[in-house]
Amino acid sequence: MGHVFRTEEQQAAIDGFKRFLDDKIGAIFSKEYRDKFVPREKMQKIMRELVRFGLVSSVVSEANGGMGIDWLTMIMLFEEVVVAATDLSVPVLINSFGAHMLEKLAPVHLRERYLPGLISGETFCSIGISEPDVGSNVLEIKTRARRDGDYFIINGEKTWISNGAYSDFLICTCRTGDDPRRSLTHFLLDRKEHPYEVREIHKIAWNSQSTAQIFLTDVRVPASNIIGNEGEALKNTLSMFERSRVFVAAQGLGIGRRALEEAVRYARERRQHGKVIAGHQLISAMLAEMATNVDAARLLTYRAASMIEAGVPAEMEAAMAKYFACEAAVTVARQAVQIHGGNGVTKEFLVEKLAREAIVVPIPEGTTQIQQLIIGRALTGVNAF
Ligand SMILES: Cc1cc2nc3c(=O)[nH]c(=O)nc-3n(C[C@H](O)[C@H](O)[C@H](O)COP(=O)(O)OP(=O)(O)OC[C@H]3O[C@@H](n4cnc5c(N)ncnc54)[C@H](O)[C@@H]3O)c2cc1C
Repeated sequence: MGHVFRTEEQQAAIDGFKRFLDDKIGAIFSKEYRDKFVPREKMQKIMRELVRFGLVSSVVSEANGGMGIDWLTMIMLFEEVVVAATDLSVPVLINSFGAHMLEKLAPVHLRERYLPGLISGETFCSIGISEPDVGSNVLEIKTRARRDGDYFIINGEKTWISNGAYSDFLICTCRTGDDPRRSLTHFLLDRKEHPYEVREIHKIAWNSQSTAQIFLTDVRVPASNIIGNEGEALKNTLSMFERSRVFVAAQGLGIGRRALEEAVRYARERRQHGKVIAGHQLISAMLAEMATNVDAARLLTYRAASMIEAGVPAEMEAAMAKYFACEAAVTVARQAVQIHGGNGVTKEFLVEKLAREAIVVPIPEGTTQIQQLIIGRALTGVNAF
């Protein structure tokens, strides 16, 4: 499925990686740590192994220690991580996003200090944008950074922060002035030097990794820890979203693909009315619809990744991929449960977990509705936010 889009090199890289994931990773998240929090040391050990295949490091240029893998290949590898374990894809995504930000925006002293750890799988970062009252509208961020000589004092609360409990550092979006568009600034907070409090959030799924609230109380951080220029966080965040949304689209794609694979396997084995259920036309039609949705999600995701690789603006295409692939994941995972009948809602089969995971994915990195608004704006030039 989808192999026509892969070169021989890409296929070889994916085959090797898939073997590793099947042998070493799948069972950890589907059995041992199914819905159970993976401690930091264990997640770190897994990340150290994953980065050898080019994960995280591929978003970084070779000059800065990266592997120099193109964006499309990296998204293909990332898709395989999701197919093996959605939970594991989250630290891969967040560390990749952090590495990309450090390379593109951070001053040399921060880049040299924090990028190598992400690339080697030793450290974890978090990206702190969302707050209890601030989700879809980033402009309303309330967390304050008040200047105090060569330092800033930060107070506020972040929520839904992926990697929170694992994080060695937080790239935190703070308000440094009153103009809503030109007064947001990114700070790097080192957890040891600029301590922040972390509290885990329990969710419907994705509980093998960390999603956390972060509390910032009089955190004193040097002005030299600003990433990008003061007042430019909004512009920089929006430019990063294009890439991060393709990652989340690939999460939707991976969940949908795994649900389809499980449904196909079950439909070929389960017998009712004297034959395997794949032989019933209504099941066959459902599988056909699922496979078509998964392939359409793949095409949109790979197209957006290819455009990013080519340096072509892809805001609308990334939004289309995120919107379609994540909604398709919900539909396809639900159909996979239906094909499993009663077995589909038990912990004995993976599809109940996939259905819960799928429900989450249309929310982060801009909800489905926000992607629709972005696509509408690109089509008409009219802002309907
Ligand atoms: C598992 C998970 C991981 C996350 N990881 C991170 C992270 O690492 N860092 C981080 O900063 N954030 C993270 N988030 C937060 C995520 O980005 C937000 O949840 C998301 O942006 C939506 O914000 P909200 O939850 O406040 O919903 P709201 O913005 O309150 O939206 C509620 C509903 O209203 C709709 N809506 C909002 N505005 C409009 C509008 N103008 N028109 C039509 N409908 C609208 C939305 O689509 C949604 O259906 C994560 C979230 C989850 C669930």
